[in-house]
Amino acid sequence: MPHRHSSPLRRALMALALTVLALALAACGREGSPPVKGPKGSELPRYPVAKNFSLPESPTWVRAKRRGHLIIGVKEDQPYLGEKDPATGRYTGFDIEIAKMMSAALGFPPRTIEFKTIASANRETALQNGQIDLYVGTYTINDKRKKLVGFAGPYYMAGQSLLVRADEKDIRGPQDLAGKRVCSAAGSTPYQRIQAEYPKAVLIAYDTYSVCVDNLLTYQVDAVTTDDAILLGYAAKVPDELKVVGKPFSEEPYGIGVPRGDNALRFALDDALAAAEKNGLWRKAYDATLGLSGVPAPKPPPIDRYPAA
Ligand code: GLU
Repeated sequence: MPHRHSSPLRRALMALALTVLALALAACGREGSPPVKGPKGSELPRYPVAKNFSLPESPTWVRAKRRGHLIIGVKEDQPYLGEKDPATGRYTGFDIEIAKMMSAALGFPPRTIEFKTIASANRETALQNGQIDLYVGTYTINDKRKKLVGFAGPYYMAGQSLLVRADEKDIRGPQDLAGKRVCSAAGSTPYQRIQAEYPKAVLIAYDTYSVCVDNLLTYQVDAVTTDDAILLGYAAKVPDELKVVGKPFSEEPYGIGVPRGDNALRFALDDALAAAEKNGLWRKAYDATLGLSGVPAPKPPPIDRYPAA
């Protein structure tokens, strides 16, 4: 994977880019511009914690029970999905709500969750080596990954899309990427799709999409590609500077990653998701988080309860 080197110049550029993004974000709060929308604690649903819940067949659950809480891998720089407030250390977003929902269903009060930020390329290893119990962070279910981890869900259907600067005229879809600098996260399905299907694009990988967005704002790259749900969040934060273009060109069903072979845990999470979709909590969680990026709540995709693996 062609990772760029971190030369002093590169680091200086990165610092500059981060400053530009910070200024752009700060500008949103100024008088006359719309306030930055975000979930308010009071509007977030509460998830009833399952009483006397026990899952002795799940080694992951048993380990968490001994420890006293769950450790859940997430993203920290994806607006409306998984975002960490640097001042308070608090995580918010739709993925975070799904994590809380699942924790409650497994008998662990959501406030006890230990969130760990894990980048796209490190998710499988983190689940395999026991660094985390679950992963909830825009994690596409696919057969290749199913050989390494298990997936409950899906709980949401996203699709790959493109983010460009607001004044961009040439890039309207993936067919326009030949010779363009396109940024995505290492180890992600959008990165792999551009590599396989649009080989004329000049692909650049970083660990996170937020670094790609900084590079887009400072003209280091021409487009950022990943799921529409993620890109809409970045665009919503600086609508004068960024836009999402074209139609989604893939299906990205989001699953909850679990250690491979822990079928008991996977099935318990599938049950918990189905219940939350039925009793309205899924919808409430969506409306209070991802819904704020402007897309009304879709019907959740059917849960794929695949046989024990
Ligand atoms: N859903 C895609 C994936 O799992 C892209 C988002 C991400 O990197 O988390 O690779």
